[in-house]
Amino acid sequence: MSRSPTDSAAAHVVVVGAGITGLLTAIACARAGHRVTVLERGPLPNPDATSHDQHRAIRTLLPGDPDGTARRIAAHRHWEELETLLGTPLYRRVGVLTAHPADRLDDLLAEADQAGVPVDLPDGRDLPPLGLPPGTVGVRERTGGVLLADRVLRAAVRWLTARPGVALRPHSTVRSVFTGSGRIVLDGGEVLRGDLALLAGGPWTRRLAAAPVTLYRQTMLYLGRPPGGDRWDGAPTAGGLGREGRGWVLPPGAGTLLKLSSDTVCRPVADTDSTGEDQRPHLERLAAEGVLPDLERYPVAGVRVCHYTADAATGGPLLAPVTPGLWTRAACGGSGFSTAPLVAERITEAVKEAA
Ligand SMILES: Cc1cc2nc3c(=O)[nH]c(=O)nc-3n(C[C@H](O)[C@H](O)[C@H](O)COP(=O)(O)OP(=O)(O)OC[C@H]3O[C@@H](n4cnc5c(N)ncnc54)[C@H](O)[C@@H]3O)c2cc1C
Repeated sequence: MSRSPTDSAAAHVVVVGAGITGLLTAIACARAGHRVTVLERGPLPNPDATSHDQHRAIRTLLPGDPDGTARRIAAHRHWEELETLLGTPLYRRVGVLTAHPADRLDDLLAEADQAGVPVDLPDGRDLPPLGLPPGTVGVRERTGGVLLADRVLRAAVRWLTARPGVALRPHSTVRSVFTGSGRIVLDGGEVLRGDLALLAGGPWTRRLAAAPVTLYRQTMLYLGRPPGGDRWDGAPTAGGLGREGRGWVLPPGAGTLLKLSSDTVCRPVADTDSTGEDQRPHLERLAAEGVLPDLERYPVAGVRVCHYTADAATGGPLLAPVTPGLWTRAACGGSGFSTAPLVAERITEAVKEAA
């Protein structure tokens, strides 16, 4: 029998930050029958959140990392369930094409087979021109694609708004956290304490609880479709592109633009204030990489700067308890959107463990 937020066994979970991590955690905890309070310093959803963008890539196959692949497969299942729960299309199942060295293709296909991830080798003539590095082959995972990020956030807020036992509190900035007791202090002096709190403030989490993370800044280029026809309808997300094999393209579709980025212009920075930073050198570098060989055909629709944090030691994500009643998503890494359902799942387990 499922619990209701009025059962004495139900816990009170406080979530700081209403990006994808905070919202999906709130949904998972509410579904588990807990009372949930979400504190967000801006509106709901907040356009300044890292999560607020047109699209985010979701992929499953992590070559050489079978455990990671298994976790991504689990995350993928969660997304399918979430799409049904939230009752709106959130996921374009267009697949993910990644450039792989041709001489290691056989190993990759065996790995995909073993993990149960369906892949194929599409004919380049059916795809838009993509800058696959020499000596590589484009391998497409059929299960991945594009999450319509800002639509996910809006749908999650709608679901939570209608859910009994959930308090959504926009314009509620958390000033500090007593890491020993888990007490949360808001601007204005209100003090809150739940049975468990999750600090999910994205790149701003490090202001609330110290953690060994590196802050990165990324410059992204948004493009319209080239005039005179193209082959982008149903095209996959594509990665491993460009001269250095570090470029990504998120395909246009369902009202979204095409988005171009590359790890080569992702740089460590001291803070999230990019005011006055000249983006031209980063855009020039991005353009010179050959991620899209016919880039000059595409009309530029916009440029955006965005931040994320990564574990300073591993370069990946970091979710950890400070105490059993206080957890921090100190770093989301570069795949923190698609893997947010796994954080939500872990936090619902931690609520049980803390009870
Ligand atoms: C350029 C770029 C491309 C990316 N591409 C992908 C991708 O393709 N696939 C993928 O899976 N991931 C991708 N990521 C990573 C992913 O976007 C992030 O990991 C994820 O969105 C982080 O979500 P979050 O909820 O943890 O943080 P955020 O979305 O940043 O949300 C944090 C929220 O906390 C609020 N907040 C902060 N401090 C406080 C406070 N003191 N009090 C109250 N509220 C507060 C903020 O206002 C914000 O709304 C990308 C990241 C970047 C930067």
